[in-house]
Amino acid sequence: MNVGGRDASRRSRTAPPNQAPDRAVKALRNVLELERNLEFTDRAVMGGLDKFIEQSSTALPWIRDIEPLRGTSYAVLQPGQRHRWASAVMGRLKAESAPTETAHTPPPAKKPAKRSAPRAKYTLDTPLEELKFIHKATRPKLGRLGVTNLRDMIRLFPNRHVDYSQVTKIAEVLYGEQMTVAGRVTKSERAKIGPPPGAAKIMINDGTGLLEATFFRQAYLANRFKRGDLVAFSGEIGAFNNLAQMQNPEYDQLPASSASGPSGDTAQLTHAGNLLPVYPSTDGLVQRSIRTATRKSLDNGLVLLDEYLADDLKQRHTFADLQEAVESMHYPDSPDEQFQARRRLAFDELFMYQLAALKKKAEWQHRRNGIEIDSKRAKPVVDAFLDSLDFELTSDQQTSLDGFLEDMSTGIPMGRLLQGEVGSGKTVVALSALLAVNTSGHHGALMAPTEVLAEQHFLSIANQLKAEPLPGEPKDAVRHASLPGSGNRRITMVLLIGSLQGSIKKRIQQMIADGEADLIIGTHALLQEQVAIPKLGLAVVDEQHRFGVEQRGALTQRDPRPHLLAMSATPIPRTLSLTVYGDLDITTLKILPKGRQPITTTLAKDNVTENAAYELVRTQVAEGRQAFVVCPLIEPSDSIEAASALVEFERLSMGEFKDLRVGLLHGRMKLPEKQDVMDRVRKKEIDVLVATPVIEVGVDIPNASVMMIMSANRFGLAQLHQLRGRVGRGEHASYCVLMANAKAGTASERIEAVMNHNDGFKLAEEDLRIRGPGDYMGTRQSGWDELKVATIDDVDLLQIARREASDLMADGTLDSLNANPSLAKELERVTSAHITEFS
Ligand code: ADP
Ligand code: MG
Repeated sequence: MNVGGRDASRRSRTAPPNQAPDRAVKALRNVLELERNLEFTDRAVMGGLDKFIEQSSTALPWIRDIEPLRGTSYAVLQPGQRHRWASAVMGRLKAESAPTETAHTPPPAKKPAKRSAPRAKYTLDTPLEELKFIHKATRPKLGRLGVTNLRDMIRLFPNRHVDYSQVTKIAEVLYGEQMTVAGRVTKSERAKIGPPPGAAKIMINDGTGLLEATFFRQAYLANRFKRGDLVAFSGEIGAFNNLAQMQNPEYDQLPASSASGPSGDTAQLTHAGNLLPVYPSTDGLVQRSIRTATRKSLDNGLVLLDEYLADDLKQRHTFADLQEAVESMHYPDSPDEQFQARRRLAFDELFMYQLAALKKKAEWQHRRNGIEIDSKRAKPVVDAFLDSLDFELTSDQQTSLDGFLEDMSTGIPMGRLLQGEVGSGKTVVALSALLAVNTSGHHGALMAPTEVLAEQHFLSIANQLKAEPLPGEPKDAVRHASLPGSGNRRITMVLLIGSLQGSIKKRIQQMIADGEADLIIGTHALLQEQVAIPKLGLAVVDEQHRFGVEQRGALTQRDPRPHLLAMSATPIPRTLSLTVYGDLDITTLKILPKGRQPITTTLAKDNVTENAAYELVRTQVAEGRQAFVVCPLIEPSDSIEAASALVEFERLSMGEFKDLRVGLLHGRMKLPEKQDVMDRVRKKEIDVLVATPVIEVGVDIPNASVMMIMSANRFGLAQLHQLRGRVGRGEHASYCVLMANAKAGTASERIEAVMNHNDGFKLAEEDLRIRGPGDYMGTRQSGWDELKVATIDDVDLLQIARREASDLMADGTLDSLNANPSLAKELERVTSAHITEFS
């Protein structure tokens, strides 16, 4: 009654059951093989696969019950669905043929071992090189995309999908938009454009107009596309000589059979409803190869994925199942399904993120191996110190300090972030806490990100404690002070930075090791192995965002665990703070010390405004103030067009500021030179300091009232705000002048943001909007690889993730986490993956 079936069905009546459909099986295999090569475009059989499937169903009655074909037809399935169906059919054929072979092969001994678990052939950790189902030549190229194993392969998500169901008439395309068009090839030729073998130019006509696609470096496509072929292109619409154009669009050859006219073509396309994944790519790796590779990876690896979200959590937020979500990220049946898949996986990332932080916190606090500070002994010393200052703490400062002292008296290691606007007075709070630790016989350390800042801390703290050089010890690095309010107890403070003279450094390291240094101030030099601070009670990390998470933690990785106080003037946007600092408790200084003047920010973008800026500096200096001029570079660069400190120093000291005392400070100067310059600035012997951003963090010269930022477009938003914070620290009205020729793009957006907001929190939110969360959530701040699926638009998911994670860890223990082993395992995997990246 049908073509291939006649023969097959006759055999099926006479031959043993297992061999009956042999021929049908073979035909089916061939057809599916061919169809796979044609990327499941329903072209393997004349007239479409449906007919063929119907024929095959006589011999293989189950074939139409295999999902997702069941109850529908091959023609209406999308390529991804067709692929799934075909894979399932092949799987079934294999499974059925296995026992047959066994039955016919006498020695069964070897079989079970060899065939027992076909799936176990791969695990998610199987290295890329061993994924035999991916073409050998494709593997190294995938490696370049960062793929290392099967797990990476199935998580190599497409950047987007081309929606072949949304076909636009060529007459109606919009320039600059991503669109899909379909039509018949009217011209197909090679063109000598670019490196040999050149490009292919393909012209199509859909009855409403012409469009030309140029495929650079893919000349071979001129042979693939023949006149009269029906094709679809998807990409950005451009125009050249009034002709609609695309460059290297996504392409698909469409079944040529049925359609007669362009309108018919379009109707058929819409019917097919293809959502084709478009993957990140590297040179020489075409979409087709990636698609084949990811498809096969999904076929082999999807079942290995272990769901780790609890059912009730998924139900609460209608999240898709893991396997389903991963499949739909690649081959969604509809845009909505893709949306749901992305939503689920974005949530996972944010949730893991949050859990990792809370887990760290729980592990940390539950060791209860903190150092107990006796607050009764500390209180009088701290109070006496505060009394000795010529200002009073703001109520914010006082409350934070009280909180820290209480934290440190519990025996649970403190882990706190003190965040506050530039100039809000974080240092004095930290210093008070450091003194408190000293009263219980412990030592305190203060780590700063730059030598200039470490040195400034050393000097200003020495000043506040009225410390004096110790006879026989280097005076630049060792001071001796009496602890206020403690009778005549004395403490020794030292400075440890990389560029200290060798012998002095040795001496300081020795003093630290011998426990002679009570208060240790330094840079990351403090983290070196040879510097083990024996009785460290409190580690303060200033400008903590300048350090990696590992460095932040390094000082306190020991038993008993010292208290940690991290400080930052770069506020994390509220929406992200818990995510980035989940392991720390946050204290915020909201009010600035009394009498601070607002800073007026202006933009100098032409001669007139620039001259006004120089005039402003001269008038301010005449009134006894000082000014900073900050340049992005030390010396001129061939590749970066920006002001350099050396050139500006020359230019300004000979020109605009020739009557003023101009100084120079940059990162490559030797330490004594830097010390000398900063000294002269403090003593007001320098009116204008031309510097690189070494002065960005922490530098405190209350008399300075003008901050002039050269090539302001070269600085990031946070940096601009930090630099501006170097002025307005005293009682004088202050100015920040941004020197920048108005440049397009995000630079001018940043400058505008700095002009409009004085509030660091607002700026952080702006920064987040302009740059995205990468930098906050990325390696630099959080120690995590950048998010792959989640984005800044996922604020609602972030909130859900935060709530779910805090609920799960509500009791502050790991119990509930460990009650879901799959989740605990996944978290372990995600976090350890990130740790190895660092070591
Ligand atoms: P930041 O928070 O940016 O690190 P600092 O700790 O450097 O700020 O403080 C800025 C300046 O304000 C310093 O000169 C400091 O002595 C001073 N200061 C701190 N607290 C107060 C206060 N309560 N009243 C007046 N001045 C203060
Ligand atoms: Mg500071």
